[in-house]
Amino acid sequence: MKIYNTLSRTKEDFVPITPGQVKMYVCGPTVYDFIHIGNARPAVVFDTVRRYMEYKGLTVEFVSNYTDIDDRIIQKALAEQTDASVISERFISECEIDMKALNILPATVYPKATEEVEGMLQMISTLIERGHAYQVADGTVYFRVRSFESYGKLSRKNLDDLRSGDRSLQVSGENQKEDPLDFVLWKPKKEGEPFWTSPWCDGRPGWHIECSVMGKKYLGDEIDIHAGGEDLIFPHHENEIAQSEAANEKPFAHTWMHNAFLNIDNKKMAKSENNFFTVREICEKYEPQVLRFFLLSSHYRSPMNFTADSMAAAKAGLMRITGCVENLDYRLEMKETKAQMEKLMPSGVVNEAEAELLTRSVVFSDKFEAAMDDDFNTADALAAIFELVKFVNSHTDDDSSPALLFALREQIIMLTGICGLIVGVSTEALTVDIERLIEERQKARKERDFARADEIRAELAAIGITLEDTREGVKWRKE
Ligand code: AMP
Ligand code: ZN
Repeated sequence: MKIYNTLSRTKEDFVPITPGQVKMYVCGPTVYDFIHIGNARPAVVFDTVRRYMEYKGLTVEFVSNYTDIDDRIIQKALAEQTDASVISERFISECEIDMKALNILPATVYPKATEEVEGMLQMISTLIERGHAYQVADGTVYFRVRSFESYGKLSRKNLDDLRSGDRSLQVSGENQKEDPLDFVLWKPKKEGEPFWTSPWCDGRPGWHIECSVMGKKYLGDEIDIHAGGEDLIFPHHENEIAQSEAANEKPFAHTWMHNAFLNIDNKKMAKSENNFFTVREICEKYEPQVLRFFLLSSHYRSPMNFTADSMAAAKAGLMRITGCVENLDYRLEMKETKAQMEKLMPSGVVNEAEAELLTRSVVFSDKFEAAMDDDFNTADALAAIFELVKFVNSHTDDDSSPALLFALREQIIMLTGICGLIVGVSTEALTVDIERLIEERQKARKERDFARADEIRAELAAIGITLEDTREGVKWRKE
């Protein structure tokens, strides 16, 4: 598997630090509003990276933070005369709804900045002790950029150019800084804002320190992959590297992945220009899966353009795949093999010609994998699925054996599933889900939670599953 590493600007063979295990950190949203479709791009892309790695047999620890300390959250709280936590909790819940709609797998942990201040105080203290940070008169603590020799290695910025070029750094009133590039680790509180006590002043952390601290706490000093949108390369990720490597004295992330931006009608998405869409709005107009499909239809390092036409193309593309699966379902149903199929026992044996078709169909899975192994080229991976669909449409008919139809159906569902797209329920997944619900019902009954037990029975009945309590245990059958 090759991954483009922003740090080396080359595609590298991916070798996890611990064989078989991947530690991955993705910078999450600042929770002051609904997430927009630009934020959905890293969410969908890195979820697909994770799904593919899991498909390849790797275990992935996936950490994604919520930035819940931020000026925009505080401003909104002041405007609504409420606590900052009320605003951030509201938009974390809304974000969860959108993530679920986009079929993003839950992260292993979702740390929040407000709950990790203790670790931030520790890391800042370490940085001060080691001479990498300093406190000024008003209690602000800055990172001393010139103390970290390789500062600029990720963004490949020349520090002298940065110093003379960015005048805003010098006129921002932060004249207590030793160097215009030094950045804030801790700053004094302002009236009416949330604050924490610290050895330096009552105040709050700067933005960058949270990811260094959460990465260390949940994944360790050295992690495999750190990811986010390309706007984060500088200063956010550059500063994370400086903080983490100066404090831990170890390389922080081995691979840095960055997605390119999503524009709208060829213009930069900007709230100030009212040129943006929330995920919620788009999911009211289209199936959330169409948005996911659209976001995967280009390579993650290519800029994308969101237009009505591109969404229409995504919708048509997705329908081509679902249409093929529905067709296979219809044929299987016609052959009255559905009952067996749902118990994973397709009847009917493939003949020689069909066996050859199955061998030939493997080529599409190989193409899919080759595309994904090449820095997650989801555009080519989806193209391989289309080729498979075309192959299925032209080589199966009403006379095909159920076993052949079944095998091809599972192949399409598996490949689309790696992309997080659901085009039909895999019989295996269906069986696992049913068994899980039955187990939950048994547990509820044991705990005398009969309301929940009845609810589960009704839930299963709604999908045509009937339960029978027998002496040997619970049996289920599909009506
Ligand atoms: P933010 O809430 O602004 O910190 O953004 C959360 C994530 O979305 C970060 O990884 C950003 O880089 C990413 N992001 C923001 N806007 C866009 C966009 N228009 N296209 C792609 N990614 C974006
Ligand atoms: Zn971050």
